[in-house]
Amino acid sequence: MHHCSIDIANGVIRYARSPRRLDGLLKEANSGRSLPGEEVLSLAREMAGKGYEVMPIGCDHFDSRGYCLGHEDPP
Ligand SMILES: [Zn+2]
Repeated sequence: MHHCSIDIANGVIRYARSPRRLDGLLKEANSGRSLPGEEVLSLAREMAGKGYEVMPIGCDHFDSRGYCLGHEDPP
């Protein structure tokens, strides 16, 4: 199974002027709280600065650009 991921440039940064469109796009891993658009943007910029192209969603196995590398199917 492959996780979906969000294109940082086309899916997040392009909405920098209308952060309401990004509300709830990501959830905080620990609390499950939906992140407001402003936090999604700052996270995306931070990741882009580290060389990521996409933001992995609910994925703990991804390459240096953020793409899911796939997972073993549960038995
Ligand atoms: Zn994954």
